[in-house]
Amino acid sequence: MESPYLTAEHEAFRDRVRTFLRKEIAPHAAGWEERRTMPRSAWHALAAEGLLGLNHPRAAGGAEADFFHSVVFLEELGRLGFGGVRFAVALHCYMGTSYLASKGSPELQQRYLRPAVSGERIAALALTEPQAGSDLSGLAATAREDGDDLVVDGEKRFIVNGGFADFFVTAVRTAGPAVRGQGGLSLVVVDRESAGLRVTPNDCVAWRACAMADLSFRGVRVPKANVVGRPGSGFPQIMRNMQLERLAAGISAVGDAANCLETTWRFLKERGMFESTLSAKQAVRHRMAELLTEVEAARQLAYHAAWRYSRDPLSITECSMVKLKATEVAKTVAEECRHLHGAEGFRAGSAISATVNDAQAAAVAAGASEVMRDIIAQSGYEEF
Ligand SMILES: Cc1cc2nc3c(=O)[nH]c(=O)nc-3n(C[C@H](O)[C@H](O)[C@H](O)COP(=O)(O)OP(=O)(O)OC[C@H]3O[C@@H](n4cnc5c(N)ncnc54)[C@H](O)[C@@H]3O)c2cc1C
Repeated sequence: MESPYLTAEHEAFRDRVRTFLRKEIAPHAAGWEERRTMPRSAWHALAAEGLLGLNHPRAAGGAEADFFHSVVFLEELGRLGFGGVRFAVALHCYMGTSYLASKGSPELQQRYLRPAVSGERIAALALTEPQAGSDLSGLAATAREDGDDLVVDGEKRFIVNGGFADFFVTAVRTAGPAVRGQGGLSLVVVDRESAGLRVTPNDCVAWRACAMADLSFRGVRVPKANVVGRPGSGFPQIMRNMQLERLAAGISAVGDAANCLETTWRFLKERGMFESTLSAKQAVRHRMAELLTEVEAARQLAYHAAWRYSRDPLSITECSMVKLKATEVAKTVAEECRHLHGAEGFRAGSAISATVNDAQAAAVAAGASEVMRDIIAQSGYEEF
C-alpha cells in the first residue's frame, strides 16, 4: 500500500542503498567493529554512491535531496546491525557537517564540507566535556582571541569518529570563562593536525567502529575564519542542529530494532524446543508480535516527525519524541531478543550482545531519555 511519506522513487532508492550496504559494507563491518575503526575505502565507497551528502547543498557537492532520502538511508544504516558503523556515518553526515551546511561560510564549506561529502575528510562533533554532558550550559572549553587566531584550551569526551576524524566541530566559550550558561558559546572547526591537540582512544563498550576518543586542547591555534556562523551564536546553533541529530538517532534506531527482530526471528525458527521450534511457542510469538508493533509505532512516529522536520527544522517536540520512543524501543527489543537467545545471548563478542550495548548507548547519546522527557513535558502540552 502506498505510504503518505515515501514515493516509488524513495522505495527504489531504498533498494539501491540496501543492496549497496549489504554488498560493500556488511561483509567487512564485524571486522571494523572488532578493530574499532572504519577504513578510508569505506568512506570513499559511501561517497561514490552519493550517500555522504544527501542532505547537503549542491554548492558543496551535496544532493539536496528531499529529506525522506535521508530517512531511508538512516533506516537502512540501522538495519545493517552494526552500531559503530551506523553512528560513524550518521554523525559525519547529519551531525558534524550539518553545522557547516547551515551556518558555515562559503570558505568553510569549500574547505571542510565539500571534502566531507566526497569522503576525503571525516567530521566529528566535540561538545561533551568531563563536567558537561546533558547540561551544555556548563561547557568550559575556551577560545581566546590572539591576532587573527583563536587559542583553544579545554577537554572533550566521548567523541564519535575521534580516532580517525580530520576535523572537529568544537563548542568553545569565546566570550571568556566568566560568561557562563548559554551565552558566549561558539562553534569552531579544529584540524586534527593542529599543534596542542591530543586525541586519546576512549575504550567505550558500544559503537566500537566509530573509534570513540577523548580530546585535550592545550593552546591550540585556530584561524578566526574557522568560527561557524556568528561568534557567540553557538548555543542556538546547537539547539537547532540537535533536532536533526535526534531525529537521525531515532530513525536509525528504528532500523536497528527491525534488524534485531529479523535476526532473532530467524534464530527462533531454527532453535528446536520440545518437539517444535521456539518460534512456534505462543508465549514467544506474542512477545515478538508486541515488539514488532512497538517498532512499527516508532517507525510511523519517525516518519511523521521527519515530515514535520522537513517543513520546520525546529520541530523540537516531535524530534525529541522520536529520539525517546525509537531509542527506548530499540533498547527493549535488544534486551528482550538477548533473553530469547538464552545463554548464547551472553557470549562475549556475540552480535546480540553488541546490539544490546549499542542500543543502550543510543538512549544516552545526543540527549538521554530523561532529557527528552523534560523537553516534551515543557513544550509538548501546548500542541495537544
Ligand atoms: C556512545 C556515545 C557516543 C557519543 N558521542 C558523542 C559525540 O560524538 N560528541 C559529543 O560531544 N558527545 C558525545 N557523547 C556524549 C553524549 O552526548 C552525552 O553522554 C549525553 O549528552 C549525556 O551526558 P553525560 O554522559 O555527561 O551524562 P550526564 O549529563 O551526567 O547524565 C547522566 C545521566 O543522568 C540522567 N539525566 C540527565 N539529565 C537528567 C534530567 N534532567 N533529569 C533526570 N535525569 C537526568 C540520564 O540518565 C543520564 O544518562 C556520546 C555519548 C555516548 C554514550
